[in-house]
Amino acid sequence: MSSRDLTPLADPRPLLGSLRVGDPVGADHELAGVDASAGLTLWLRGPHGGVQVDIFPRSAPQPGVVDTQHFRLSYRGALPTSAGKALCELLGARVATREGDWLRAARGRTLGAEGAQRRVRQVSGGRALELRVAREVSFHALNPYVGCLIGCSFCYAQGQLQPWRALLRLPDVRWGSWVDVRAELPALLRDELLTAPRLPIKVTPVVADPYQAIETKERVTRRCLEVLASTPNPPPVMLSTRSARVLDDVELLAQMSGVWVGMSVPTLDAEICATLEPGASSPQERIEALRRLQSAGVTTFAVAQPMLPGDVRELADALAGVADSVTLDTLHGTYAASPHFASGPLHEAADPAWQRARLDAMAQALAARGVPLWRGELPPALCGEVRDTA
Ligand code: SF4
Repeated sequence: MSSRDLTPLADPRPLLGSLRVGDPVGADHELAGVDASAGLTLWLRGPHGGVQVDIFPRSAPQPGVVDTQHFRLSYRGALPTSAGKALCELLGARVATREGDWLRAARGRTLGAEGAQRRVRQVSGGRALELRVAREVSFHALNPYVGCLIGCSFCYAQGQLQPWRALLRLPDVRWGSWVDVRAELPALLRDELLTAPRLPIKVTPVVADPYQAIETKERVTRRCLEVLASTPNPPPVMLSTRSARVLDDVELLAQMSGVWVGMSVPTLDAEICATLEPGASSPQERIEALRRLQSAGVTTFAVAQPMLPGDVRELADALAGVADSVTLDTLHGTYAASPHFASGPLHEAADPAWQRARLDAMAQALAARGVPLWRGELPPALCGEVRDTA
């Protein structure tokens, strides 16, 4: 078996059996989307609106409502507790009848290959376009890599991906030191674009930064962009990163229509960034990258998340000069960054009230400079809805 036979995290979709998007789930729900980028997330539609069901290994820190032998299920949605639990029980029963066979096969594939021990693995399989159903719009997630060498210590993906690696008995190595390279993704993408609904594609650092260091060698992100650039009437694309390596593709991005390129810039404090985001470009390099993208004619945006210490006015001035719009969000858990937030300059930033107040201050500072703000999964032009948070 070659290392190319490995799949990223072993595709967990078979746990659902023959269940497909559009199929009924129980008496009054329908499966609207499935995303296996970082485990298994389902979106259902029913009488109380949308429901998100997450299926994750029992060793994960998240609470759940239903357990199988190896997995835990939880739900989010505005439905009665009894109905949410019933949905999880229904889906859990499906998982329970398949998990033993799936896990044996998945461990066989990951352990049976010598490549399983490598920090950088070449993997294949899975899907290119993962269907996600957000409140305002459905979209496709595209992940050229799984795992991220930028290694932000607060990254919430580690809380999702590390338990899956443990379940598959992959080496227990720290977040930020491993990555699965999906070298065949461009070919998969080309095939799927022939039949996929024309939805916005989001290439964002949720489970992996598209311009982490390995991109210089592997060029998976670049090759996916080339596929999109050569597709007639391509869907709009939203791409964001913490790396100025995106400038390697500035000419290609400038030629593509309907492309939004964003940079995560939570603070201008280079020391804080180096502490929390060790493999990322410096804040100044990120601002310069946005400036060059904007000068080349690319629509730019900035993401300030989480809120971190630093001068609000200076950050607002810097972003106002280079970003066509900005989205803000607070800290969602400290994960491996807990020691950094326990004391010192980051201590106050761990307080949710500080996060909220800083977000409000940033929103006001940006609004005063005429910078459009948006919340949610996609920029307004991609989901047709502007939300001013000021
Ligand atoms: S760049 Fe994004 S995916 Fe990578 S470690 Fe940081 S937060 Fe996680």
